[in-house]
Amino acid sequence: MGDGKKSYDAIVIGAGVIGAATALALARLGWRVLDVDRLPASGYGSTSGSCAIIRPYYSTVDGAAIAYESHFYWSDWASFLGAEDERGLARYVDCGCLVMKTEGNKHLKPIMAIMDQIGCPYEELSPEQVRERMPILTLDSFGPPKRPDQPGFGESNGQMLNGAVFFPKGGYVTDPQLSAHNLQRAAEAAGAVFRFNVAVEEILQEQGRVAGVKLSSGERVASPVVVNVAGPHSFKVNRLAGVEAGMKIKTRALRHEVAHVPSPKGYDFEHQGCVVSDSDTAAYLRPEHGNHILIGSEDPDCDPKEWVDPDDFDRNFTDQATILAMRAAQRVTGLPIPNVMKGVVELYDVTDDWIPIYDKSDLPGFYMAVGTSGNQFKNAPIAGEMMATLIATCEGGQDHDKKPVGFHLKHIDRRIDLGFYSRLREINQESSFSVLG
Ligand SMILES: Cc1cc2nc3c(=O)[nH]c(=O)nc-3n(C[C@H](O)[C@H](O)[C@H](O)COP(=O)(O)OP(=O)(O)OC[C@H]3O[C@@H](n4cnc5c(N)ncnc54)[C@H](O)[C@@H]3O)c2cc1C
Repeated sequence: MGDGKKSYDAIVIGAGVIGAATALALARLGWRVLDVDRLPASGYGSTSGSCAIIRPYYSTVDGAAIAYESHFYWSDWASFLGAEDERGLARYVDCGCLVMKTEGNKHLKPIMAIMDQIGCPYEELSPEQVRERMPILTLDSFGPPKRPDQPGFGESNGQMLNGAVFFPKGGYVTDPQLSAHNLQRAAEAAGAVFRFNVAVEEILQEQGRVAGVKLSSGERVASPVVVNVAGPHSFKVNRLAGVEAGMKIKTRALRHEVAHVPSPKGYDFEHQGCVVSDSDTAAYLRPEHGNHILIGSEDPDCDPKEWVDPDDFDRNFTDQATILAMRAAQRVTGLPIPNVMKGVVELYDVTDDWIPIYDKSDLPGFYMAVGTSGNQFKNAPIAGEMMATLIATCEGGQDHDKKPVGFHLKHIDRRIDLGFYSRLREINQESSFSVLG
């Protein structure tokens, strides 16, 4: 036992960006918190492979409101943390996000209506204005997205995109792993204890409620509250607690590749580019240091989904990253496709409707912030605060399943009903059913 204590007010399983944020928010309530991670440091799980894009456009009003709110947390990261980190602070590059108008996204009309509802600024750009802003982008349409071995791949379908929408309140965080470390340091400054290289192997229960955890070291640590923030391992931890069967919405691990390629010759994408989201080619881009472009997938129907065991999956590139680069090369003129691909192979923790679960469970004292579906990095600081509010209110006696807890988004002055994230919800048909949330 590193710190000599054997009991806590809450134990958080996982020290990724959302686990560390949850530990911070609970510690700020004055709770004695232990955060346990099986890996050697905070943010070493799926957080380390995150593209860390901050963007407000989501398919649901609540999803968009929280994502827009997150911009203000990252803009003022140092004040939010209120603590030093000897490794420095993660940096938010607020270069904005350009989203292409396509038939598939209904020319972004539903998204603009949501932005109007939540008061989030945006600017519609004509095709000429898109070319002016980023001359490397072509406006030809290639949709629907295809695989390179399908007929018509790389050929325009004869139509042109009719412009894009620019969202100025967005961008990306330069170092997602560091952002988790920043949260760890802030949580420690508020009194939380972190332990690494040790896994939770059992959820202890007494008289029908949580009593603590048993660790891989053999120790038993007592606590009346345990929070599952285990990322792609979330379903395994839910099974340890015996709560999965009581959930209508479930989680599983989805393997994803992200490609890092150089910017086209003569163009400084790192400083002149921004986040680009293009459902016509099913690729999204963001600037990466060294004048590189990071390319992720928008999960088109033509691609098989690689559901995997988070303890046993292939960390090598398949053809996925190359296909991504080839798709992006349709939109980005002169995009080099390296023979040897660089980038990231990581896992999303995906729910049935690609909207996370921030909730209690059927086991009193056992909570979860899971199923973050490749799109919740941005929301981590708010997710931590939502979880602390939810946990404190439920432990205070409120039945969240019957009377959902509310949460106030202070920067945009909007109330969220946390029932939106319930494990007992029906599948949300408004979702994009993709990483776009
Ligand atoms: C490739 C990729 C790109 C992404 N891009 C974006 C993006 O652009 N924008 C965005 O907003 N989001 C993005 N995301 C999503 C975002 O990164 C995640 O939602 C977020 O990082 C999840 O954080 P977490 O703390 O919940 O999980 P993780 O970072 O996975 O942390 C979970 C931790 O739990 C630990 N753990 C698991 N089981 C146990 C156990 N039994 N005992 C102890 N510890 C355990 C693990 O070791 C791990 O460190 C992306 C994700 C991926 C994978």
